[in-house]
Amino acid sequence: MTTIKLHNTRTRGKEVLDPLNPDDVRLYLCGPTVYDRAHLGNARPVVVFDVLYRLLRHVYGTNHVTYARNFTDVDDKINATALARKEAGAPGTLEELVQERTEETISWYLADMGELGALEPDHMPRATAYIPQMIAMIEDLIAKGHAYADGAGHVLFSVKSYKDYGALSGRSVDDMIAGARVEVADNKRDPMDFVLWKPSTDELPGWDSPWDRGRPGWHIECSAMSHELFGDSFDIHGGGNDLMFPHHENEIAQSCCAHPEGDFAKIWLHNEMLQVEGKKMSKSLGNFFTVRDLLDQGYPGEVIRLVFLQTHYRKPMDWTDKKAKEAEATLRKWRVLTTGIEPAPTAAAAVIEALSDDLNTAGALAELHKLASTETAADLLTSARLLGLLTDDLGTWAQDEDHDLSHYENKLFEARQLAMETKNFAEVDRLKSTLVDAGVEVRMSKTGVELVPGPSFDASKLDAI
Ligand SMILES: [Zn+2]
Repeated sequence: MTTIKLHNTRTRGKEVLDPLNPDDVRLYLCGPTVYDRAHLGNARPVVVFDVLYRLLRHVYGTNHVTYARNFTDVDDKINATALARKEAGAPGTLEELVQERTEETISWYLADMGELGALEPDHMPRATAYIPQMIAMIEDLIAKGHAYADGAGHVLFSVKSYKDYGALSGRSVDDMIAGARVEVADNKRDPMDFVLWKPSTDELPGWDSPWDRGRPGWHIECSAMSHELFGDSFDIHGGGNDLMFPHHENEIAQSCCAHPEGDFAKIWLHNEMLQVEGKKMSKSLGNFFTVRDLLDQGYPGEVIRLVFLQTHYRKPMDWTDKKAKEAEATLRKWRVLTTGIEPAPTAAAAVIEALSDDLNTAGALAELHKLASTETAADLLTSARLLGLLTDDLGTWAQDEDHDLSHYENKLFEARQLAMETKNFAEVDRLKSTLVDAGVEVRMSKTGVELVPGPSFDASKLDAI
């Protein structure tokens, strides 16, 4: 059997994956808080984990891997968006508007991630469906001396009660206090203590609990849901490295204190962050994109996916328009090469080997380029599909490849010949601007005209010519 090695954040080295139960390899990824469209950075762990999920299914069998990714559907940001709608005159109670917002955001999320070729996980637990499990876990933590109620509706986790706190990120509690914005509050016994439960006002979502009507803190969700689905110990836990502290440290503290007989997650995988054109993505810099923004701009989901996979998940990745154009050209070439080809029975050994070495997607893509250059199309097709590329679902964007633009090339060429004589270039300019508007790159030389459809090519706009 193929040996998979993964870099474990907890031990800071590559480890052989040795599943607790090879008949049921279990992985958990922290999912989105559903208050708005997913941005490009949110999509990175989804694509990384999708490749891991596909690799595990390849190695252990499709029915022997269980993947869970949660939806955080109770959060102040969701409440804030619902409140803004209510204040703008939307009908319904605040609770109904909260529900409407989460439903709409979840459907957007699934559609957008689907366009990137991400398979849906086996479980997509919503926090609001696991409140009794969270309350039970909090009660257990209080009983074991790891948490305390402040008598005013809050329950806090006592960080000092867990001696290994900080082991995942390798920082001491003092360093963490210095580096983070730790909220000092009167009800905390220690500044590092964090909220497990907090009170809710009457109009906000809330649940009855031994500490009055309230709602859970964010961190307890993942501990309670992963325990309900996977038990005391499971194989792999992932997320962006911005979640390592405090979220993952807090998850470990809660889970290991509530279930000291288990290991919680054995391997921790963290992906690095994403930049756009060399800069941190931010609304103020104008380089903040949701996945939907890019899809609407004409970047096919498959192109976005290929750009993501060119960078190893543990390295910062830079989204650039140049990379997207190159990825598009590559995929068009590969799709032409594999059209009408029966896929090979299994992916190429070199591709599986690269992915098994801590998800070396860049190495796997280099192998795909080799297969393309030797025109080993059947192997290319099966191997690319292991990375979620060249699938039938993702291919519709490339079908306009067959679009014959020679008619427009001739027309533009003739119009230019005429304009050279009359010195009136109005018709040439009109044709060019219509073509550009339709997403066509116009290349003109002395000897001819070449038209190349770009990522936003829209054949219907050529009717204007
Ligand atoms: Zn989480």
